Amino acid sequence: MPRVLTVVMYHYVREFQRSRYPKIKGLEYSGFVRQLNYLAENFTLVRIQDVVDAARENEELPENAALLTFDDGYAEHYDLVFPLLFDRGIQGAFFPPVEPVRDARLLDVNRVHFVLASCDDPAKLSEYVDERVREDQREMQLDTVESYRARWAHPNRFDDAETIYVKRMLQTALPEKLRRSISKELFARFVTNDEAAFASELYISRDQAKLMNSCGMYFGSHGFSHYWLNEVSREKQEREVDLSLDFLRDIGSPVDKFWAICYPFGGWNEELLTVLRKRHCTLGFTTRVAAANLDSDCPLTLPRFDTNDFPQ
Ligand SMILES: [Zn+2]
Repeated sequence: MPRVLTVVMYHYVREFQRSRYPKIKGLEYSGFVRQLNYLAENFTLVRIQDVVDAARENEELPENAALLTFDDGYAEHYDLVFPLLFDRGIQGAFFPPVEPVRDARLLDVNRVHFVLASCDDPAKLSEYVDERVREDQREMQLDTVESYRARWAHPNRFDDAETIYVKRMLQTALPEKLRRSISKELFARFVTNDEAAFASELYISRDQAKLMNSCGMYFGSHGFSHYWLNEVSREKQEREVDLSLDFLRDIGSPVDKFWAICYPFGGWNEELLTVLRKRHCTLGFTTRVAAANLDSDCPLTLPRFDTNDFPQ
């Protein structure tokens, strides 16, 4: 029997209707509960150790095996998801980046999400991005606005072209210093001036992660600062991975027995896999949408479904 695994990826799981940011794209808590019921009825929810054993020891997986993964370390993973999974004896695999959790620093990616959720028209934001690009073009040796747009302004299955353009420009396309300056300016204008307070509410804390780990949840790597790991130097890849392993050890994750990584934004390359193999990484999860086949897929590039691929 082929060893097939359905990995489901979650990000925000919130009570959006009651929150200050109903436009944030994520899963409403009641939908999560319904989806969990659906998955529990139609799949066998497995633990990370089962997947490790399948990948490393050629162990069987149950029929219709599924693993639940939660990226980015959001506070509601502790407040809402953890109690529900714990009550039902289900293990979630959580992948928080270190910097926001340990240092309560707001990630660029989240700053951009909340700017987009707080502004009624993404074109207003993209115009400001373009304005800043034109201003700094010569000094920072940037590409032209037209070439950035040609490369990045393409809709995907969740977002329109303007929204994707703002996201990509501020996540990866522009030099880090510039994109941070732009996103901070927009965040102060559209969301709040107090970024630190905002961040400490947005993410789980180190102590919460430690508690969840000791209650049987699994914690794996999602890097340190949530970079696209395929877009950074080898040194930066190593630093991102090593700092995340230090954090995982600190909260009690069994790094020396096995460890897993979820690639921020699904970004990986061969150089990164070399870095991971050197450190005996066991499993890597991408954002390629498919069922994982433990007989044929490379264990470091296993595909995942999105929560939106299942009934909610
Ligand atoms: Zn992420």
